[in-house]
Amino acid sequence: MSTELFNQTIAQLADELASGKITSVELTQAVIARTQAVDERVKAFNSFDAADALAQAAASDARRTAGQALGPLDGIPIGIKDVIAVTGQPLTASSKMLANFVSPYDATVTQKLKKAGAVIWGRLNLDEFAMGSSTENSAFHTTRNPYNLDCVPGGSSGGSAAALAAGEAIATLGSDTGGSIRQPAALCNVVGLKPTYGLVSRFGLIAFASSLDQIGPFNRTVEDAAITLQAIAGYDENDSTSVKVEIPDYRAALKEKKGPWRIGIPKEYFGEGLDPEVAAAVEKAIEFYKSLGCEIKPVSLPHTEYGVGVYYIIATAECSSNLSRYDGIRYGHRSADAKDIVDLYYKSRAEGFGPEVKRRIILGTYVLSSGYYDAYYLRAQKVRTLIRQDFLNAYNEVDAIITPTTPTPAFKRGAKADPLAMYLCDVYTIGVNLAGLPGISVPCGFSSSGLPIGMQLIGQPFKEADLLAIAHAYDSKHDWSRKTPNL
Ligand code: GLN
Repeated sequence: MSTELFNQTIAQLADELASGKITSVELTQAVIARTQAVDERVKAFNSFDAADALAQAAASDARRTAGQALGPLDGIPIGIKDVIAVTGQPLTASSKMLANFVSPYDATVTQKLKKAGAVIWGRLNLDEFAMGSSTENSAFHTTRNPYNLDCVPGGSSGGSAAALAAGEAIATLGSDTGGSIRQPAALCNVVGLKPTYGLVSRFGLIAFASSLDQIGPFNRTVEDAAITLQAIAGYDENDSTSVKVEIPDYRAALKEKKGPWRIGIPKEYFGEGLDPEVAAAVEKAIEFYKSLGCEIKPVSLPHTEYGVGVYYIIATAECSSNLSRYDGIRYGHRSADAKDIVDLYYKSRAEGFGPEVKRRIILGTYVLSSGYYDAYYLRAQKVRTLIRQDFLNAYNEVDAIITPTTPTPAFKRGAKADPLAMYLCDVYTIGVNLAGLPGISVPCGFSSSGLPIGMQLIGQPFKEADLLAIAHAYDSKHDWSRKTPNL
């Protein structure tokens, strides 16, 4: 276990900052130096602005000296996925389309982190427009898994997961449409939380599939996830799907809520295709919950098998609409050699988008076209309702559901060239987005080849406090998530 500043948790660093043992400038310098030392190999960042981060850190230290420290995030460097807007910083979605775009405004989550005193640090790589499961779809470069540089970090928030695992940030933000926080968290040995749809504002998040997208944190512990969620959750009038709910004290809930809980095991998530080492690690975690006195119950989510199909109809339909704004006229890449307006639209999009984005726009346009709308899109919406109902039925009997986060540990770069093989990386995470539920991936072991394994806990809508408490009961008694890679 490393005692380096850049590998510590928010909870530890907040105490050290509060007691005056360290300053935010020292901490931020340590993170910058670490990034400069390892990012050539990990490639988690699209860009970073060290001078800007140090200026924020100095402002944090000045607040503290004046007796006006803001809370546990004050002075903590937090990396941001390059689809979340930060004023004056690049916002590229890892696409040629936005390669030169600088954001004129802050996302709501960015503003909230700034209000909590966090040092906003760096722009983290992703699959182009958050479409993918390996970060290989980035138009700029492929991020590496810090536990094995030949393997992928997962995706689409691969940069956010890898940067945190490698000590290049103290926490990071990502976005999750079908698994893009939980899957890379599992593959990189960090905690990843996808909140209930509507809990965290999407204002300032580049839209992929608006009915599924949700921003959430990557952390080293579940306690840190509670601290980070506290800062970013809450109603926002700038997001019409944001929900007005009371925000409890998530960190206090970790201590107050003690169980024992009723935990459901869906047999549909433990079948064919599941790597035996992953299954064994999750089963050990289940045994641990049993030892706490939790009631472990089989539950059934009978429509699980339709999840991936339904997701790739709804997500592509929504992305084909959301991405129509990139037309070469208003902002983004504009082709230099178009002969007329139609040619300008055509060439700008042909040059600006990569192959996976184009594949999805074409598929989404197809499922929405007249004649196919009822057969595909409308039917997918109906099955989506059934999938949500499966979960709600299960919650009549259990408080939470436990599953593997991913079917396998991290795979080699280039191993999933077939798009369908890549799509199946999210079989266990997609249902949570379709149902709008909260889900968290927590490290729970390593494979025989030294690659991290994660388990997923799925909670009830807006009951993040319970979900975090259940996850913390395991995480606080295991130190998987405190191991660090050899870089
Ligand atoms: N891997 C899934 C996809 O490619 C999910 C991506 C995400 O959650 N943003 O769509």
